[in-house]
Amino acid sequence: MQEAATRFRLEESISDLDQLRDDLADWTVSAKRLGPQGQYLDQLSLLAEIAGAGIDQVRHDLLDRAAVAAGGELYEECRRADHRTALLRRFWRWYADRLDQRLEDGYRPTLAAADEIVRSTWQALYPDDETRPPTPLPHVAPIDMAVSTARDEVPRDLRAPSEPVLARWTKLMPLSTIALPSTVTRRPWWLVVIAHECGHQVAAEAVEDRDGSPSAALEAAAARAGAGDDEQRDWRNWAIELFADATAAVTKGTAPTWSVMELERGTPGTLLRPDVGYPPPVLRWCVADAVVARIGLTGVVPDADRELLAASPFAGHAARAEAIATALLDIRFGGTTLREIGVRSRDWERTACRWRDALLGVTEPAAGTAPESARLCVAGGTMAWRRTTAGASGNTDRERLRRRLLRVLPQSRPKSVRHATPRPERRAVAVTRQVLDDLRSDAW
Ligand SMILES: [Zn+2]
Repeated sequence: MQEAATRFRLEESISDLDQLRDDLADWTVSAKRLGPQGQYLDQLSLLAEIAGAGIDQVRHDLLDRAAVAAGGELYEECRRADHRTALLRRFWRWYADRLDQRLEDGYRPTLAAADEIVRSTWQALYPDDETRPPTPLPHVAPIDMAVSTARDEVPRDLRAPSEPVLARWTKLMPLSTIALPSTVTRRPWWLVVIAHECGHQVAAEAVEDRDGSPSAALEAAAARAGAGDDEQRDWRNWAIELFADATAAVTKGTAPTWSVMELERGTPGTLLRPDVGYPPPVLRWCVADAVVARIGLTGVVPDADRELLAASPFAGHAARAEAIATALLDIRFGGTTLREIGVRSRDWERTACRWRDALLGVTEPAAGTAPESARLCVAGGTMAWRRTTAGASGNTDRERLRRRLLRVLPQSRPKSVRHATPRPERRAVAVTRQVLDDLRSDAW
């Protein structure tokens, strides 16, 4: 009787592992169809491989240990295996849930649009197919502001101490994500925030590659421009957000600044108050304007806001906005700089304006086929949305704009190009080894 119970217990643990293997196999088949032309396939097939190897490892260890265990010992072995099975499932599903949102009707058009904007932006930032880091995976989340999780960053809900092992695995996974607020499903012009979030991803990649760090570059630029210690420290603390804004500006022109101004607009007190990691909003906008001016575009910050800043305790900072903008454009990453990308993209502001007019026009706009189409279409969408806020027929116009963006953006990509990125072999080996080591270990 006792023996039958322990055998049954072992069968349960093995069947959970087999179920996980079946679920993973089904998912691998469906995942191949998701994302534009298999954009995320390389990273996600790596996920399936790691989880598959992990299942084999846990199954093998359990059968090995069960062969010499009896009674309570065998129960403990089964519990050990069950915990590992659950961890593997949670690791896999953390990424899979985000990709699989593309199967849901409520998210499908928005994420098809987001996929193209990310691809288009990422290719502008890393033009070389051979060295481009894996494309970040966008998904929708119940949040009010977009959040990036870089490749070597542990997702917030998997951070230690709750799950130190999962934290280690996700930190090594060569897959980054961009969480978008759910409002984008109803107001797709807000997909323009992807530009800023891609900037966060670039900043993380630059640190990993030991390229220039935005924090050090801005602190040094502020010192050269005559800032005192406190102000140098401010620029250092704000560097990542300002670099993300500059990335947005060189890939999409002035549209991201409009969207940031709309998001941050408030009383004069709010506009002059810094936040953790962020400059006072009006100073942030003026730096973004200085960036676009340096790539030959006209800034968009209203005079009244500039005057507010000039009369504030941040006037000294404002006087150094141009030096800061110059430093941002010269930070090296991936063999290039934002300045080089920005100079190439100078004419794209005009293209974004043409998208604005087409999206508001009488005839239905056709999708673009250039690499930059998706990111300039969403920039034009932001400009179009601004126009609708001034007109009397705003609601009707915005509804048409929403419909058009969700139709055109998902189709806006070059024909017959598979958007793969090179498989990050070094990372693949490192994460697989860590997962298998941790599954074997009893040290946690
Ligand atoms: Zn940010």
